[in-house]
Amino acid sequence: MASHIVGYPRMGPKRELKFALESFWDGKSSAEDLKKVSADLRASIWKQMAGTGIKYIPSNTFSYYDQVLDATATLGAVPPRYGWTGGEIGFDTYFSMARGNATVPAMEMTKWFDTNYHFIVPELGPDVKFTYASHKAVDEYKEAKALGVDTVPVLVGPVTYLLLSKPAKGVDKSFSLLSLLPKVLAIYKEVIADLKAAGASWIQFDEPTLVLDLEAHKLQAFTDAYAELAPALSGLNVLIATYFADIPAEAYKTLTSLAGVTAYGFDLVRGTKTLDLIKGGFPSGKYLFAGVVDGRNIWANDLSASLTTLQGLEGIVGKEKLVVSTSSSLLHTAVDLVNETKLDDEIKSWLAFAAQKIVEVNALASALAGKKDEAFFSANAAAQASRKSSPRVTNAAVQKAAAALKGSDHRRATNVSARLDAQQRKLNLPILPTTTIGSFPQTVELRRVRREFKANKISEDEYVKAIKEEIRKVVELQEELDIDVLVHGEPERNDMVEYFGEQLSGFAFTVNGWVQSYGSRCVKPPIIYGDVSRPKAMTVFWSSLAQSFTKRPMKGMLTGPVTILNWSFVRNDQPRSETTYQIALAIKDEVEDLEKAGISVIQIDEAALREGLPLRKSEQAHYLDWAVHAFRITNVGVQDTTQIHTHMCYSNFNDIIHSIIDMDADVITIENSRSDEKLLSVFREGVKYGAGIGPGVYDIHSPRIPPTEEIADRINKMLAVLEKNILWVNPDCGLKTRKYTEVKPALTNMVAAAKLIRNEL
Ligand code: GLN
Ligand code: ZN
Repeated sequence: MASHIVGYPRMGPKRELKFALESFWDGKSSAEDLKKVSADLRASIWKQMAGTGIKYIPSNTFSYYDQVLDATATLGAVPPRYGWTGGEIGFDTYFSMARGNATVPAMEMTKWFDTNYHFIVPELGPDVKFTYASHKAVDEYKEAKALGVDTVPVLVGPVTYLLLSKPAKGVDKSFSLLSLLPKVLAIYKEVIADLKAAGASWIQFDEPTLVLDLEAHKLQAFTDAYAELAPALSGLNVLIATYFADIPAEAYKTLTSLAGVTAYGFDLVRGTKTLDLIKGGFPSGKYLFAGVVDGRNIWANDLSASLTTLQGLEGIVGKEKLVVSTSSSLLHTAVDLVNETKLDDEIKSWLAFAAQKIVEVNALASALAGKKDEAFFSANAAAQASRKSSPRVTNAAVQKAAAALKGSDHRRATNVSARLDAQQRKLNLPILPTTTIGSFPQTVELRRVRREFKANKISEDEYVKAIKEEIRKVVELQEELDIDVLVHGEPERNDMVEYFGEQLSGFAFTVNGWVQSYGSRCVKPPIIYGDVSRPKAMTVFWSSLAQSFTKRPMKGMLTGPVTILNWSFVRNDQPRSETTYQIALAIKDEVEDLEKAGISVIQIDEAALREGLPLRKSEQAHYLDWAVHAFRITNVGVQDTTQIHTHMCYSNFNDIIHSIIDMDADVITIENSRSDEKLLSVFREGVKYGAGIGPGVYDIHSPRIPPTEEIADRINKMLAVLEKNILWVNPDCGLKTRKYTEVKPALTNMVAAAKLIRNEL
């Protein structure tokens, strides 16, 4: 019985690759140094998998930045502005595409399906001259072979590559990316020939777009592509890996009929409909790569349950053809539990990071082959049982309160326009009120203070004094700038989710549980392991303090339940909605405490609401329903005169605008400037928005200072589609990554622009 891993994290157990990359980019180390660190990481991963007993070990899942950019390099599809003149693509061109250089900005980056990983979007037009310009796949195959490990080279599949691409700027609207398929396949054939010559006997194409609800002509592209590749692939075993969701029935039919393909990989963790499809019919003589070990989470596998699933599949596909695998690449989970020194043994026994998941996959394969490691299985069963029964997981009162939420809709009793009137009588704001999204620049000094307090190097008094001073300065600055609704600047927060997680029960934190977000950037999601509750108020002290410094309204600043959920590792023993409702109740308590403390504007950020949208269309309405409901629960209890803001940062809202309206916030501030004001088009097309709305007037992701006229122009464009009495003026997002030298002039211009237009109205 065989075992397989779809892909593995690249960063290393202690983010070795991150530090090597950043030092190279800063000119502090050489290309050779970077290559050496990378080769060592690859070697240790291959040896680790081989040592564990994994049969199908992936190669070419390492990347200096991103696997889709690697495919772009392989195809020589470098946009002309990077001035590449041919030959093997080196670090210069590669990193310019990834990060931009002194003269040319980077290529666009976007989220990889519903993960927090970002890939570099290929830009293609009818004139691209594809050439085989990076031999990375074959080089890595040979490198592993030299170490005595025969691997399965992994390539981003040709159809997925094209479906994830975008037309280059200036390309005619009628241009179809899929029309490039023959040209792209010509290069794939060269790569395949190279891999064959180097001795590869298997090859893996990642085609995760197959899990999306694709139109017929896109499915047809898969049929055409693999028919075209079939002769080149003959003599090889070919695995098509899909992941991240149940595969639609149509796509399953297409996939299992592809020419030249001998193996199919499925995510059997997310949903169970794929299992039904397999039971309904699986082509004889083909391999099934059964992804039963979760690549997206950090929980130890329920081995006995997985074994039962696998035994069922054995009856369908045959003993020889079943391969135990991960549900997706392990890129999306943490690296190695061994380095977690701060988690207690009980919680640790419930977890498995990438290194532990390899062992699980192997243990399942061995068990199927009749060599069950009884000790390992019984330790696993004991951990599963302890997780089910631990008093740390269950809080009966929370369960009960969350269950009681169901039957009700939780809407504020008064409608939004009457609420806005009541709020205006209290707040007395000018037309086009100005505000910011929450955070102010996080200086080196500020980070030092927080770090030293955490490490007990300074006393609580010293810490409070320093933060208080910072808040006072931020408030003073906003008054000077003449902003209408102020913020305290969030100096006490490292991260908008971690800050709340640390104060809520049911959360645990890792020391090294990093997951790659993009390039060298990693995030460390908290782990939600138990029922969530709020032992005491979390933000009231700082918000009241900030309010005491000013007569202007001070916004209380909270992170919403859906965002806390989407940016954490979430428990898998109850539906995500259940966990979100629990968090919603905790945030509700906080909202009401802020109101009691005299805070009359409260912002509840839902930055990640959009990104949690399920990939399959059939699941989206249900998600939006409970996500929006959870948001409303947080603020259903406040008075009409308390103004609830929310904030979102992601440029594509048009498909969920009705859900956004259904959140029933009084004011929404929303990312807008990076997306060419695409957001405004929904209002142009007639969607009515009655609540307050502040589409960002400038992009905070760039150090550029927007001139007053430019901002005024943006506001005028908004006024063309939105009523003047609902429009707010604010940046796109929080200012924490900016410098004061950028923030001061930018906000000065923003306020000036608002005043300019107020005078004209
Ligand atoms: N209030 C947060 C801030 O300003 C919001 C951040 C975000 O939307 N990502 O930093
Ligand atoms: Zn934002």
